[in-house]
Amino acid sequence: NAPVKLGLVVPRWVCINTLLISTQKARQHLSDEGFTLKSYSPKTYEKFLQSIQDLGKWDYMEDFHFAEVLVFSASTAVMSSTLVSSGKLLLQDKVSWLSPFVSAVQPGDVVLDACAAPGNKSTVLAGLMANQGKLICIERDPERFTVLKKRVKHHGVRNVLFINEDFTSVDPSELQGVTTILLDPSCSNSGLEMNTDSASVSGERYRRLADMQFQLLSFALSLPSVQSVVYSTCSVQSIENEEVVARALQQFTNFELDDLSLKLKDWRSFGDENYSFAKKVLRTQTFYDLCHGFFVAKFVARRVFLNGKT
Ligand code: SAM
Repeated sequence: NAPVKLGLVVPRWVCINTLLISTQKARQHLSDEGFTLKSYSPKTYEKFLQSIQDLGKWDYMEDFHFAEVLVFSASTAVMSSTLVSSGKLLLQDKVSWLSPFVSAVQPGDVVLDACAAPGNKSTVLAGLMANQGKLICIERDPERFTVLKKRVKHHGVRNVLFINEDFTSVDPSELQGVTTILLDPSCSNSGLEMNTDSASVSGERYRRLADMQFQLLSFALSLPSVQSVVYSTCSVQSIENEEVVARALQQFTNFELDDLSLKLKDWRSFGDENYSFAKKVLRTQTFYDLCHGFFVAKFVARRVFLNGKT
């Protein structure tokens, strides 16, 4: 089934910040402010995508995949809701839920957000961890680091340690005990552009980005206590996605890809079919999923067999 192009009315995605409000209370509050929760039938992804294109200014729907993600029309008034100014509703795309979701972090885990600013995914991770355990947020750029700290604190994240350094220069002893890494490095951002004319961007630029992404991924996969690394980009270019993953799989044979294909109902956007692991990684496509173009892969440590036992 090839993805259907539905047109270009891209809606406004919003995430409920579960650290500050429950999904039920958020819905109640939105209703008090005059918003109406709409439903659709049948409950298929296809029907959902059609229905969100018909939302009125005061309507919204729960996302098909994540109950904590809401979708409003492009002309929505939700930006002036007090839930937004108080940090209880986060004005961020559905894809900012995708990589924290596949990371499957739990309360009590030790988690590293290795390229964290401005912190969209850090808050989602802390929410999934219910502020328990430890979340280490690393950001290299000093200005972006300041924004990250301010936003993440405003969003109620408490279990956090901030480090303003290049991830690859951090002393691994500072990262002892980290089992899960979310790596969302700088990329071409081609998934944020409506018209992804790859010919307008030089191949050399993509190559530089891909080498930097591979270097960061290699560092993540080299840390001794790490059990899983979620690699994501806002790029739709295979060179920054599947090619980086393929190089890492070749070098780090102690890791394999988790099969993400069955983790989300009705998911239909997968990897570049030129790669053998295409069906194990997820993509989103603006033309089909009506959200940012995104890529996510999850590396998991292979189980070590000793004397026939795991
Ligand atoms: N994960 C973030 C979110 O969801 O809000 C978005 C991350 S953005 C795509 C990439 C970030 O990584 C940028 O803020 C960039 O400054 C930072 N970065 C790039 N290279 C880095 C490195 N070597 N070490 C630490 N941070 C880095």
